[in-house]
Amino acid sequence: MDVDGVLSDASGRQHLLAGEPKSWAAFFEASVQDPPISEGIRLVAGLVDDRAMVLVTARPARLADTTVAWLERNSVSWDLLVMRRDGDHRSSPEVKSEALEGLRADGYEVQLALDDDPGNARMYQAAGVSTVYLHSGYYDL
Ligand SMILES: [Mg+2]
Repeated sequence: MDVDGVLSDASGRQHLLAGEPKSWAAFFEASVQDPPISEGIRLVAGLVDDRAMVLVTARPARLADTTVAWLERNSVSWDLLVMRRDGDHRSSPEVKSEALEGLRADGYEVQLALDDDPGNARMYQAAGVSTVYLHSGYYDL
C-alpha cells in the first residue's frame, strides 16, 4: 500500500514540485501536515484481516518518525513500513521495485498492491502482482 495520494492527501504540497529544480526536500518535509484521506484509510482497514499490511513509500527514511506519528494520529492499520533510503534519488518505480524484491526475499507473498502513481502500478503489474490503481490526480496518465 502506497502512502502519499492514497492514505495521505499530498495535494497541498504538489506545488513544491512544479518548478525547476523541484523542491523535493521541502515537498517531503511538508508531509507532516498532510490531511488524511479517510476513504484510503478505511480501505486499508478493510484489507488487513489476517494479512500483513506493508506500507511502501518513496518518502525518504529520515521522515520515518514523523510518518509513523502521522499514521498513528490518523489510526492507520499497518504492520511494516518500507521507505526510500536517504540519499537514494532513483525514481519511485525503481525504489518500489527493489522494495518488492526485498519483501519477496523475506518470504512475503505479495497479494495486492495499491498505488496512485501509474508508473508504480505498471511496475507492480509487470512483477506479477495484482494491482489497484487509485487516481489521486497528482500524475499524468
Ligand atoms: Mg503515491
